[in-house]
Amino acid sequence: MEFFDSIIKEALEITRGLSEVNYEYNAVKAWKDAGGNQVILQKHSAFELSGTGFNLVTSSSVEDGITVIGSELADIKKDCKFTRITILQIDEPEDQQKTYNLIRKIEYVKYHYFPDGYMIRTSSRSHKEAVRVSKDAVKKGISFQNVGNLLINKYKEISAVKGVRVIFITSPDADHRAFEDMAEKSNSITETLNHIMNSVNFDCDTCNLKPICDEVEGMRELHFKSRGM
Ligand code: SF4
Repeated sequence: MEFFDSIIKEALEITRGLSEVNYEYNAVKAWKDAGGNQVILQKHSAFELSGTGFNLVTSSSVEDGITVIGSELADIKKDCKFTRITILQIDEPEDQQKTYNLIRKIEYVKYHYFPDGYMIRTSSRSHKEAVRVSKDAVKKGISFQNVGNLLINKYKEISAVKGVRVIFITSPDADHRAFEDMAEKSNSITETLNHIMNSVNFDCDTCNLKPICDEVEGMRELHFKSRGM
């Protein structure tokens, strides 16, 4: 599974030089999960983070942990730009259908973790991610470190997930627009995999996914292999 590897490389390159803090994964130090969607009213909000959240899956080794580039939640005083990137190491599935199903299962996690006092708004049709953090949670010590531990715990419930690195970026010096482009590209790769699983169209000249297959190594071979061609 190397379809997302070039985006991972690009993401790591773009953040190089920005100051970062790394935390080891600690399952016990996870922030409390509220167990379901919560509503934080504007009057209870400390600040909002708005930007992009996306996953990148690979078969290469990923060390569990959390990276914070920019301010931690305790140091944020007003609304700011934000990007969350989660890089996941998975066991190579036996076939393409299982690969696609696993990517979907991993994607599902982002809609099913509910850090207490950290209201996430996201959509299945977009990679946009907005977070409202409550004053109460800030007072109780919420941090990217403990929210990240909670998110990793959730991913680890999937047995094929072997390593998870969650990167939270709030630095104003980071190129958040570039991260949006990466998220869009990663979404296009997943959509192409979906097409490959379901389509009988093998005419690359008329296929609207040609730009992705031209760029991402192994994608075209995967389509033809999936139909025994
Ligand atoms: S291999 Fe060709 S037909 Fe298949 S998704 Fe890629 S461009 Fe489209």
